[in-house]
Amino acid sequence: MPRVVIVGAGIAGLAAGVHLKAGAAARGRSIEVLLLEGKDRIGGKIVSDREGGYLVEGGPDSFLPEKVWTVRLAESLGLGAEMLPSNDRFKGTFICSRGRLHPLPEGVMLMVPTAFWPIALSRLITWPGKLRMGRELFIPARRGGGDESLAGFVTRRLGRECLEKIAEPLVAGIHTSDPSEMSLLATFPRFAQLEQQSGSLIRGMLAGMRERSRSRPAREHAEPGRAAMTYFMSFKGGMGALPAACAEFLGSDAIRRDSAVVSIEPRGEGYALTLASGESLEADRVILATPAHESAALVRGFDGELAAQLTRIRWTSVATISLAFRRGDIRAPLAGFGFLVPRTEGRRINAATYSSIKWSDRAPAERLLLRCFVGGGHHQELVGELDDACLTQTVLEELEAILGLSAEPELVRIYRWPKGMPQYTVGHLERMAALEEHLAARPSLQLVGSSYRGIGIGDCIHEAQLAAERILAG
Ligand SMILES: Cc1cc2nc3c(=O)[nH]c(=O)nc-3n(C[C@H](O)[C@H](O)[C@H](O)COP(=O)(O)OP(=O)(O)OC[C@H]3O[C@@H](n4cnc5c(N)ncnc54)[C@H](O)[C@@H]3O)c2cc1C
Repeated sequence: MPRVVIVGAGIAGLAAGVHLKAGAAARGRSIEVLLLEGKDRIGGKIVSDREGGYLVEGGPDSFLPEKVWTVRLAESLGLGAEMLPSNDRFKGTFICSRGRLHPLPEGVMLMVPTAFWPIALSRLITWPGKLRMGRELFIPARRGGGDESLAGFVTRRLGRECLEKIAEPLVAGIHTSDPSEMSLLATFPRFAQLEQQSGSLIRGMLAGMRERSRSRPAREHAEPGRAAMTYFMSFKGGMGALPAACAEFLGSDAIRRDSAVVSIEPRGEGYALTLASGESLEADRVILATPAHESAALVRGFDGELAAQLTRIRWTSVATISLAFRRGDIRAPLAGFGFLVPRTEGRRINAATYSSIKWSDRAPAERLLLRCFVGGGHHQELVGELDDACLTQTVLEELEAILGLSAEPELVRIYRWPKGMPQYTVGHLERMAALEEHLAARPSLQLVGSSYRGIGIGDCIHEAQLAAERILAG
């Protein structure tokens, strides 16, 4: 019976394991799947902690159902009825500009305006900025392909103000990157396509919206046994429900916690793995579902070129700081799901989500749970430099400056993710193609996870399933 060892039990490793086990069973084959996880808990960046009636997310708080792989995996594991829509009656994003919060104008899809009046009436963008955005309709598409930075693309098409006040906080916030370094093709290929196909992002977005409204039933209507889908979705028990369900499907014998792998080396057609404990294990196939910088250390001994390619992927550090308040202590009006802070504001937090407004059952009655983001594209040194007390103090000062919120939190939870977010910098896709070409010579070794072809949970699941499929087909 072939043995597949998966190193790392984040969502990518777990999804690969589930796909291997289910795929082998569907083919009437037997396969041994073993996950080795360095920590004492599974889930990697996905952490949902319950405490005193609060449900605190340390990493992701949602998934995008339009990336269908998450929904399919959840449903296959019996989590269909556990999916949780966001409370869209409170929906709305605010952007901090010159110290004040402005609603992101309705109709702005990611960064592209698709409705005239909301932009015209918005106080977020100046009139010259609005006119510059409108000129996008007449700017010819760039000739010739090739990658460019997100900042270069947005400035070229929609102008600098749109970059600084909308695109940078909105889209760079997802990737926690500096848009002047982010690869357009690796992060927002759809924008490049829209420019080439429609000659204009605005025209392309509008055409897409018309097409979707003709061809798709309204998303708000739930199918039987399935939650109504909102743009962002979670699980009633928090995002941790997904890795937990994967682990349950795989069974306790298939996952070993506290089992960090320190090296691997080729052995026959497969690999030998050495654990931190000194134990050695053999595998016919290995899936490295560890961040690229960890994977580099594991393969360096037998493939220096692969290690060098993996080391070229850069990372930023981020932290989430969740704070809970008594509602009665908060005089500031909290509208929408939260706010984003452009880098040009020079503040020390990037964003805040009103977690218990965005999601149901995240806080006890008469309490409010907020979550702030520090690091990433700006001020990532704070993630490592400040101790918990200073980090909390910093976040409270920023909340007071931006929201006028001066209450004492009754709960604070800090999660630091040093080198937690891979950076898809300009040329990322070419580097991935070179990596895959190099790896083709090693069919027993697969690399999956957020380092490569998508940082979102849906992409991690999809890539992991493709890797598992290659193993099943081999
Ligand atoms: C703060 C934050 C917020 C985010 N928000 C969202 C969101 O809302 N929606 C979304 O879709 N995505 C979000 N993301 C991104 C998403 O969470 C990650 O990209 C994804 O969870 C990464 O999964 P992974 O399996 O690739 O890696 P990881 O989750 O990092 O898992 C890797 C695992 O490998 C283990 N490991 C490492 N080295 C070894 C070793 N030598 N031996 C054994 N085990 C090892 C680690 O302990 C870990 O468990 C967010 C990320 C962060 C940090």
